[in-house]
Amino acid sequence: MATKSAVLGFPRIGPNREVKKAVESYWAFKTSAEDLEAAVKQVRKQRWQSIADKGVDSIPSGDFTLYDHFLDAANVVNAIPERYTKSGLSALDIAFAMGRGRQQLDKGIDLHAMEMKKWFDSNYHFVVPEISPSTQFKLNKNKYLDEYNEAKELGITTRPVVIGPITFLALSKAARDAPAGYEPLSALDSLLPVYVELLQQLKDAGVEHVQIDEPVLVQDKGESLGAEFAKVYKKLSEVSPKITLTTYFGRLGKSLDFVKDLPVYAVHIDLDRAAQQFDEVVAAVKPTKLVLSLGLVSGRSIWKNDLKASKEKAEKAIAELGQDRVVVSTSSSLLHTPVTLTSETRLTDEQMSWLSFALEKCDEVAVLAKALNGNTTEAFEKNTKDIAARREFERNSDSAVRDRLAAITEKDLKRSEEFPARRAAQVEYLGLPKFPTTTIGSFPQTKEIRVARAKFNKGELSKEDYEKAMEQEVETVVRFQEKCGLDLLVHGEPERNDMVQYFGEQLNGFIFTQLGWVQSYGSRYVRPPIIVSDVSRSGPMTVRWSKYADSLTKSPMKGMLTGPVTILNWSFPRADASREVQCKQLALALRDEVADLEAAGIKAIQVDEPAIREGLPLRKADWDNYLEWAVASFRLSTAVAESKTQIHSHFCYSDFNDIFAHIKALDTDVISIEASKADMKLIQTFKNEGYNSGIGPGLYDIHSPRVPSEEEMKEKVKTMLEILDANNFFINPDCGLKTRGWTETEQSLNNLVGTAKWARATY
Ligand code: GLN
Ligand code: ZN
Repeated sequence: MATKSAVLGFPRIGPNREVKKAVESYWAFKTSAEDLEAAVKQVRKQRWQSIADKGVDSIPSGDFTLYDHFLDAANVVNAIPERYTKSGLSALDIAFAMGRGRQQLDKGIDLHAMEMKKWFDSNYHFVVPEISPSTQFKLNKNKYLDEYNEAKELGITTRPVVIGPITFLALSKAARDAPAGYEPLSALDSLLPVYVELLQQLKDAGVEHVQIDEPVLVQDKGESLGAEFAKVYKKLSEVSPKITLTTYFGRLGKSLDFVKDLPVYAVHIDLDRAAQQFDEVVAAVKPTKLVLSLGLVSGRSIWKNDLKASKEKAEKAIAELGQDRVVVSTSSSLLHTPVTLTSETRLTDEQMSWLSFALEKCDEVAVLAKALNGNTTEAFEKNTKDIAARREFERNSDSAVRDRLAAITEKDLKRSEEFPARRAAQVEYLGLPKFPTTTIGSFPQTKEIRVARAKFNKGELSKEDYEKAMEQEVETVVRFQEKCGLDLLVHGEPERNDMVQYFGEQLNGFIFTQLGWVQSYGSRYVRPPIIVSDVSRSGPMTVRWSKYADSLTKSPMKGMLTGPVTILNWSFPRADASREVQCKQLALALRDEVADLEAAGIKAIQVDEPAIREGLPLRKADWDNYLEWAVASFRLSTAVAESKTQIHSHFCYSDFNDIFAHIKALDTDVISIEASKADMKLIQTFKNEGYNSGIGPGLYDIHSPRVPSEEEMKEKVKTMLEILDANNFFINPDCGLKTRGWTETEQSLNNLVGTAKWARATY
């Protein structure tokens, strides 16, 4: 008997972003559906072979996708809203239209994309299925079976990865035609037969083992679904190949009480994100027959696994359960990590020795299983050495930063005066009119800007010439804003490749990959910076740009920074320090930047925190701890400002009715939010919760090229002023303009300024 290894899922993008290229060229009508299929078939083949080459026992299939695996699950069970099915498009085009919309007005097609949401607490977004009593579930093309067969033909036996029916419905939302208060989970009985058929097909085709993902079990709401789980898995186990039920990203908590009794073959738990559940779960499954799949190799981080420690943990489980009742696995799908470290050319050997991307993680689970079966390989020994070297490196803490952090007191987190006194000082210092107009920071990032940056990075453009080009761009943006008649100006952020990477590159403690792409949604991939050690600032990061912009105009200038929480949440954090410590170190660096901007005469400073909400832990019980240090970090970075300096913050995703007290506790002077989708409930929350500082509810949606009319923005202002105070009301779009073109930006901002003039005359 032996301990087996498993991988729960793998990146779908291809080692060189082949899938992005293939789908985007298909979307642009440059290639056919057959071309697309041929290209991605290659990717799937390579993926399976590379995992098999590592010697992993359970290789995933069915987790591949052209857009999103949750969207695929909706398509498999026919949860497709009617507006898409009646479009006359092919099944492939319907799936893409659901994911990203489709506009072909000459053909009478104008389909919006379905809503996307963050996948648990990761930076991946999934498409939210829409369910109603009229949803006609049936089994469409069984992609799990197709991919299984495809791999089989290559001589590779895989374990299909299926989204579980309960998680599927629990993460869905009520469709527009559903009655008020409708819960998608109430459709479970009509969905179940489709899953029965699906799994039966797999079994008939000779599939021995499936992985069914039920991550809803790590959320609070999973705990109340015991009856549903018992019923569904009783039914499924009668027809299905043996089932490994997987949970990831968090702890089972109370759900363990019923999970341990489910009639499945194995249960998988995440021991990366929720290591604390180990003893409890082992004890709970011991008297049962369940196999326990240990998620030891992180699917979310890029750090090399400490195989020796993992081995010891697995041995503890084996001692309780026996060799053949333990599986070692990745903690979750590896889709959250880049494909392979071997593509990296600019990292030092030392840095390479710290890291492990998806393919290297496959190696880790295989090596770990071998070691547990008595085969300590060279790779295992090398890992032990690498980990020891990393531990040695970790000792090199930056004592200046550590000491400074230790000396922080409550006073450092507080502005010197309360908002009313600050407001008075700011009215005088900034001289803004009533209903001040401003923007969120970035202006169109034109092709010329991107080309200049690419040339600079390749060494084809000197630093001097590059900076000159960016200065020219700043000047264009300043003149443009003056011409529009905006009140509080920005420099436009042309010099920033990305709002997080730009800061990471200037801070000590970060490293960057060449090809470390991770899927964010559809064909959008990001390359998160990696925090490797204590973070500090070696000098001003943004001051020269803001100062230059300020020198060009008499209007007040707003400096622009990315907040500590957002930098942390959009990077790969280090594993040897808490997120709190890393966030506060970032905050200290930003605090110095705020002070420098202020000293340079910048009168307003915006610290963007769009990611504050997505960092919320999965369990409500853990929220307070996170929010406490997140808010403290933001305050640490901004509270240094004098009263006369106006501190702004911006949130794109403003779904924070339930964390409002903490948003208020940020103690900003002005907050700009996304409110263009007429979310009056949120505006009402500001009022009810006694928020009296400045607020700029985004008056139009910058994600679309559509130009908002003055009339519609006036209407919004009118409705909002029934709730909000006219004296603290800012007029602005709902996010940065970097993805927009200049033509629509000019028209939109002219209308925005027109709206402000009207408001001044009216209120
Ligand atoms: N200042 C940034 C910009 O304007 C803010 C972007 C964001 O909130 N995502 O682009
Ligand atoms: Zn935004």
